[in-house]
Amino acid sequence: MSSNFARMQAISAITNRVAEPVEATEPLEDIWATDVFTLTLMEEVLTKTAFKAVKKAFLNGETLDPAAAEPVAAAMKNWAISKGAKFFSHIFYPLTGRSAEKHDGFIISSTDGKAITEFAGELLIKGEPDGSSFPNGGLRTTNAARGYTAWDPTSPAYIQRTANGATLVIPSVFLSWTGESLDTKTPLLRSNAAVDRSARKVLELMGEEEIATVSSSCGAEQEYFLVDQNFVNARPDLLLAGRTLFGAAPAKGQEFDDHYFGAIPTRVQNFMQDFEDKLYRLGIPAKTHHNEVAPGQFEIAPYYESANIAADHQQLMMTTMQQTAKAHGFACLLHEKPFAGINGSGKHVNWSVGNATQGNLLDPGDTPHQNLNFLLFCGAVIRGVHKYGPLLRAVIASAANDHRLGANEAPPAILSVYLGDQLESIFKDIQNGKLRKKAKGKEMDLGLKQLLSFTADPGDRNRTSPFAFTGNRFEFRACGSSNTVSTPLVAMNAMIADSLDWIASRLKKALATTDNKSEAVVIVLQELMQKHGVAVFGGDGYSAKWHKEAVEKRGLLNLPTTADALPYYKDKDIVKLFTSTDILSAKGVDARFEVAAEQYIMSIEVEAKLVVDMATTQIYPAALAQIASVSGAAGEAESLGLELDTSALEETVAHANGLSAGVAKLKKALTKHFKTPEAHMRFCADTICPLMLEIREHGDALEGLVSDELWPLPKYAEMLNIK
Ligand code: ADP
Ligand code: MG
Repeated sequence: MSSNFARMQAISAITNRVAEPVEATEPLEDIWATDVFTLTLMEEVLTKTAFKAVKKAFLNGETLDPAAAEPVAAAMKNWAISKGAKFFSHIFYPLTGRSAEKHDGFIISSTDGKAITEFAGELLIKGEPDGSSFPNGGLRTTNAARGYTAWDPTSPAYIQRTANGATLVIPSVFLSWTGESLDTKTPLLRSNAAVDRSARKVLELMGEEEIATVSSSCGAEQEYFLVDQNFVNARPDLLLAGRTLFGAAPAKGQEFDDHYFGAIPTRVQNFMQDFEDKLYRLGIPAKTHHNEVAPGQFEIAPYYESANIAADHQQLMMTTMQQTAKAHGFACLLHEKPFAGINGSGKHVNWSVGNATQGNLLDPGDTPHQNLNFLLFCGAVIRGVHKYGPLLRAVIASAANDHRLGANEAPPAILSVYLGDQLESIFKDIQNGKLRKKAKGKEMDLGLKQLLSFTADPGDRNRTSPFAFTGNRFEFRACGSSNTVSTPLVAMNAMIADSLDWIASRLKKALATTDNKSEAVVIVLQELMQKHGVAVFGGDGYSAKWHKEAVEKRGLLNLPTTADALPYYKDKDIVKLFTSTDILSAKGVDARFEVAAEQYIMSIEVEAKLVVDMATTQIYPAALAQIASVSGAAGEAESLGLELDTSALEETVAHANGLSAGVAKLKKALTKHFKTPEAHMRFCADTICPLMLEIREHGDALEGLVSDELWPLPKYAEMLNIK
């Protein structure tokens, strides 16, 4: 058997693949949300009183009264069984950033041998997964290891269909018995409540009388790669780490830009159609899809929804994507950087805050009054990004995302805000007191005329900014493709809540000195800009000049790796941000640090072990086979009196030796022990990662030297282009 057997077999399996038959897709109105237990459906099947209780819980994020849960549970069970479900599951979102489920049957034992189904109200409200093995960052001692899940009535239940049948899935929070949040959903719900409290203070001071609950919205753009599963099976790195740890650059990569927005290959189109139909059934509003920059890379963006639902939908979408891809013979890679030298995948988190009475508070609006509210909310974001930039960096930190940030394909690891020329000049004028001078006249201009004519220009974008205003929302562009959107949303909500609180206290003072609201707003924003305006930046975020200016002149932090970013969870301002907004306890914040640090260390160690393994069992033997074959040929040539150029042979020997020397160093490094996660993370970033790269350089050089027939691993050109 030749040594490239697995690789050749993968190529032949793909080439001889029989296409998936595609069922004709059904009209949207026939499938839309058919697998969701929607509010409308509940209204149909519940009594008026029961429905009122659920609706109140749904709109206000309150816990449902157990008595009211009884009829809801009965109706939900009947509906689920009519959809073919035999099981139910509370889905929850542990600190790993993924989702988790435990399935229970509706069936209960009966004495007469008949199958009886049951689903009591208390089963709906509360579940008890044996969650002791979920990372909890020390929030649970082993003797109280169990946590419990509780239904989040603000996110509707749905049917999940897999090859094993249908299951009723109930979105839930996950808590310890002492009430500590063990998940990413609880803080998101609490952060919305914090936004409501603080926004209300500001809106009241601005004279608003009717103020509906303020909360956040999110629309996330998801990038991903599709690679044939046969290739993945032949690459231990893709299979276990989700990214290639070896692989030489292909002759043709993405330099032609011919993939971006190009025609979508048929096989991919079939996948997308199938996948999007599934999303529609689940009530997930998939809106756009297109090819991305890199070959084999795509994007899907659902329409925005309220943050809590968007976050649940994001998780469900990622799961559905991966399952559907599998059915089409693809692996859907959500890793931030599956291929070195080829663009990685991000997840732009579009975020806004608003309510039913004042509308979107990050939209400049059409009246001077709306403009003022907007300026305050926008100012709150500027202060938030400046004061809590390191937190924004920490919530998107992972070993995988470190490969993208600052690598000229994604924003740098320095947090700044992009406002667009027009808005930036308004804020700069406020900062420099230009507008206050005008206030001496009878009517203050405030530049509002300018703002009134403000039109959201989608062309006015700065792709190099990590945090950009895009006309009626901010786009957090530094998030990674596999990141949960919950943690960035929590950070954004927390920072705006804190800033709005600060604004409310200043505004109150300013309004004591003037009854002109515009003037009061300018007084507050001038102070805000003088303290935090350094975070506003409209230039090229990729440039070396910015890196220097940001750090040296503006005092912003550049946190290139997770090891640099995560310790900021322990910063006293950041801990205070979470505790003062009632989003997390100090212990809860610390647990987030512990778990994220552990995840970082574990993923780097898994990669390092894979590097050792692949270098030793696949690449080194291929190099030896190459050396044997060429030196054999050289010997024969010599016996014929011919002289063979053996420079490539020498290079092969040098890289094979370099590879094995690197492996020896890495193996030794992996045996080290550390007292703190901080020290261990530093070692991963400063020693393990560079060693992996050193080995990779030898491995990739060997790929260019070893005969194609002897090379065991599917190559970049093959994985990216053969579909
Ligand atoms: P682009 O690629 O130009 O950034 P897309 O249309 O692909 O734009 O994605 C923009 C995302 O922002 C979509 O998910 C969209 O629904 C979402 N979005 C639009 N308006 C808002 C808003 N007010 N709040 C939050 N998200 C929004
Ligand atoms: Mg975008």
